Amino acid sequence: MQKVAESIRDYLLENIRTIPDFPKPGIQFKDITTLLSDKKALRLTSFLLSEPYLDMDVDYVVGLESRGFLFGTNMAQDLNAGFVPVRKPGKLPAETISETYSLEYGEDSLEMHKDAFAHGTKVVIHDDLIATGGSAAAATKLVERLGGEVVGYSFIMELGFLNGREALSKTAPVESIIIL
Ligand code: AMP
Repeated sequence: MQKVAESIRDYLLENIRTIPDFPKPGIQFKDITTLLSDKKALRLTSFLLSEPYLDMDVDYVVGLESRGFLFGTNMAQDLNAGFVPVRKPGKLPAETISETYSLEYGEDSLEMHKDAFAHGTKVVIHDDLIATGGSAAAATKLVERLGGEVVGYSFIMELGFLNGREALSKTAPVESIIIL
């Protein structure tokens, strides 16, 4: 079984393209458009993202703009949950709450609708990739400010050498299909 899991991961990795120096010099950008366009990789990724959370009575998948939307809504359907988008400033139309976090140079903010869900809600936070963990940590704060409980994190890829998972809630599992 271990061998099967490894070969599936290798297959997915083969379908993720690395674009050097995008969007700026020094960044090795992990491009998942090639993963999305391969029908086998698309189906396997969808399955592997949802599988760890199937029995956890998740209420919502919170997906991070923008690549967290691509698998996030599908994951929500697999988990019989709703989907809540976390977006860049000024994109959500109704009243929002906002969290600012540090980037390598400067800072950025993420927003969520203030009425996105009720107190006591169980949430899985999803994005395509975790690097420093700054955006997933900001999403965690947004969820907790509304009284939600983060019961897990879900990523296709994790840049393990950046230790991003250290920035996340210690009580929730971090599931990454591929750890680089
Ligand atoms: P971070 O907040 O540092 O964990 O960064 C994660 C966010 O930035 C995710 O939304 C990713 O899509 C994006 N991101 C960061 N680094 C990369 C990378 N090397 N390739 C693709 N996306 C990245």
